[in-house]
Amino acid sequence: KRIILVGPPGCGKGTQSPIIKEDFCLCHLATGDMLRAAVAKKTPLGLQAKAAMDKGELVTDDLVVGIIDEALTRPSCSKGFILDGFPRTVVQAEKLDAMLEKQGHKVDKVLNFNVEDSVLEERITGRWIHPSSGRSYHSKFAPPKVPGIDDISGEPLIQRKDDTAEVLKSRLDAFHKQTTPVIAYYLQKGIVVDLQAEKPAKDVTSQIEKALS
Ligand code: ADP
Ligand code: ADP
Ligand code: ADP
Repeated sequence: KRIILVGPPGCGKGTQSPIIKEDFCLCHLATGDMLRAAVAKKTPLGLQAKAAMDKGELVTDDLVVGIIDEALTRPSCSKGFILDGFPRTVVQAEKLDAMLEKQGHKVDKVLNFNVEDSVLEERITGRWIHPSSGRSYHSKFAPPKVPGIDDISGEPLIQRKDDTAEVLKSRLDAFHKQTTPVIAYYLQKGIVVDLQAEKPAKDVTSQIEKALS
């Protein structure tokens, strides 16, 4: 299956991705994680992306389309994938369709994570992540066994620099202006499944399993 996850920052995409990946053996591509890794390594791509990311704005379409174009050629992605955080603009969605068309494939389902803006600030400001795996925790809703430590690796957790109430405002603004049209783009194709993503994480997982079965 070829699946896209869409929703505002903090809606639960990163939390649900590993579960879907386990259940359906797909490759998981999270553009935000890939960009943060590039920023941390100070690659040319990372240096180009950093300023926009710090401000909560989108990086350029060409930059992320390049990353995805390269990633989709990996053998692990040939049978299916979960795209988490891509496409975020209609241009990215059109480019993705063109890439897939060349391989004779298409997007099967778009999972649309619905969460009211008012719920997102608490989710974002309480988020803790394990950078090398992308695993996320929440100080209140999904605490690690030991505060500040990843359950599986024992390595430290960090808070993302852009996970502040202030930067969240720009990220939400970008979501409403640039990504809402992406949902409309896929609605037109009849492949969108709406999720009630304000429910507890386990409940959202069941909704996803039902949608993909
Ligand atoms: P969130 O957890 O808020 O959904 P991500 O980790 O997906 O955020 O993305 C973090 C930042 O990386 C975004 O604010 C944006 O600057 C950049 N980014 C990630 N994916 C894309 C994309 N598809 N297009 C443009 N910018 C992106
Ligand atoms: P995204 O990848 O869409 O930005 P995350 O999956 O990282 O979002 O979730 C944001 C924060 O909210 C994390 O700290 C996560 O543990 C927490 N979270 C995720 N799903 C839920 C949920 N259904 N209910 C409450 N908190 C959640
Ligand atoms: P795969 O099964 O293809 O390894 P992953 O979910 O582990 O899928 O991530 C896909 C790719 O995204 C990885 O190969 C890596 O390049 C990148 N990536 C994801 N999260 C991170 C992160 N937090 N730090 C560095 N790279 C990451």
